Amino acid sequence: MSAVIMRQPIKLLSPQLADQIAAGEVIERPSSVLKELIENALDAHATRIDIDLAAGGIERIRVTDNGEGIIASELPLAVSRHATSKLTSIQDLLQLQTLGFRGEALASICSVSQWQVISCIDIETQACKLSSVNPTQPHADHHPRGTTVQIEKLFHNTPARRKFLRAERTEFRHCDDVIRRVALARFDVAFYVKHNARQIHRLPAVKDDIGRTRRVTQLCGEQFIRESLAIDYAHEGMRVWGWISTPDYSRQQTDLQYFYINGRVIRDRMINHAIRFAYQDVLPTGRQPAYVLHLEIEPDRFDVNVHPTKQEVRFRETRMVHDFLSRSLRQALHSGPNRLTNVATATNHPVSHYRYEIDQDGVQEMAGEYKSVTEAHSDLLFGRYIFCQQHDKVLLIDLQIACAHLTSERWYQQLLADAVKQHPLLIPLRFKLDAKLCVQFEEKQSLLAKLGFDVTLITVDEVVLRFMPAVLSAYQSVQDIALALLAQDAHDAGQEILFSLLVDKSLNMNKVDINQITQTMQMQVQTYQDCCREVTETDIAHLFREFR
Ligand code: ADP
Ligand code: MG
Repeated sequence: MSAVIMRQPIKLLSPQLADQIAAGEVIERPSSVLKELIENALDAHATRIDIDLAAGGIERIRVTDNGEGIIASELPLAVSRHATSKLTSIQDLLQLQTLGFRGEALASICSVSQWQVISCIDIETQACKLSSVNPTQPHADHHPRGTTVQIEKLFHNTPARRKFLRAERTEFRHCDDVIRRVALARFDVAFYVKHNARQIHRLPAVKDDIGRTRRVTQLCGEQFIRESLAIDYAHEGMRVWGWISTPDYSRQQTDLQYFYINGRVIRDRMINHAIRFAYQDVLPTGRQPAYVLHLEIEPDRFDVNVHPTKQEVRFRETRMVHDFLSRSLRQALHSGPNRLTNVATATNHPVSHYRYEIDQDGVQEMAGEYKSVTEAHSDLLFGRYIFCQQHDKVLLIDLQIACAHLTSERWYQQLLADAVKQHPLLIPLRFKLDAKLCVQFEEKQSLLAKLGFDVTLITVDEVVLRFMPAVLSAYQSVQDIALALLAQDAHDAGQEILFSLLVDKSLNMNKVDINQITQTMQMQVQTYQDCCREVTETDIAHLFREFR
């Protein structure tokens, strides 16, 4: 007996069903609705957002903003699928400034709830309302400039999904988490939050350090603020600022960790690693640091994976971002705010909190302080120079050049002995070669290998670097060094060539053994004339003026 299979004809999904399916992807629970509504308000440049929740958001989510509003004639579009005001060409996708752009959040949310949207574009225009009762016909209503979206009875028409909702308390916790994350990203926006008619948060907009600290205190607790360091570092177009817990304050969970890139919430493995790396010497295993950190970086230096539920990023220079983050955090964790090392280093410049303004009087003050610098033997000025004392003289050492000298010396010795030590890269580096370098690559591969680089060609013009010479551990741009080596005409490497490869490359100061450099240089000033010179008081004054 054969089963009779009824063939079903192929049909287009009804728009309602398509929306409900899409809703399944974007909207998991009340907090996901809340997140979308807040993001819409922020995209509309709201400066104040009022949130009113009932029963953990299951019964009601109402978000009111004072943003740009939606014109009456566009209200029906706002709630339909693939309707957005944020994207008109595929080009726009690459330069997105807004949080939403796919034009399906509202449509999805509305397909699984009872909803109403009231909006007004300015005081002189009549506000308009549209709701699930009559989803195509806007009505005149009252509303100040801005928009209110009210979502009730989430998943009332998709019982299978409603079943997955947890207790009211749990759903509220998720909503509250969304609110905290946004509020710590957007200090410039006021947030007022009620749950079951009870005021939960009152967060006025803030502009200055005091205000921001107040908001962090409100959201992360007094103890966190008391036991954290405010940091602000910048380096090569990147800036990291925020609050990080001192080693004395740690947590069992990762619940107090907020990280943003250009104001977006980001969860990323490399970032987590960089932060953990910075704390590894100071926190007992199993304990978690707490932090609120903002990374600012030019948008064209990383890609945000635009999938709505993932918050992943891809950086152009992963290693550089990783090192910048861990180095900045380490520096803050290992030095109190009053040490001279924190004063003004050009390569890793604490921008506000530890900033030391140098004016005319400052020159005097600093010149007065340099005595203690010479005693310390290891303090770094402008991220590049160290003073040290040799008998009755003061020497100024240019670390950049000194490092290049010492490193090239060591490297060359290892090369002569055919024993160059290698280090694996934490994250293998992939990079492209231009046509000329591709040709050079074959000829140079054995030299590269002898020098400790493990580079393999993986496509016609792309290589991956897995091991690097251990002597280069203090250098940030191993990739540049390898490329410069490829571009060299010479087929073997003398010490001079190695030196010239290194001399202008930036250093990771945490990995520079300053004491060793100071000692070597002091012993052989004559040999290292170009990186070590005697200084006078006038020189110092000049130096400070130059860097002011
Ligand atoms: P998206 O945000 O991806 O564009 P949505 O479905 O979230 O898609 O919103 C659709 C459109 O409705 C938005 O592009 C915007 O023009 C408008 N809109 C939604 N919420 C608001 C709001 N709070 N204020 C102003 N306009 C809004
Ligand atoms: Mg949106």
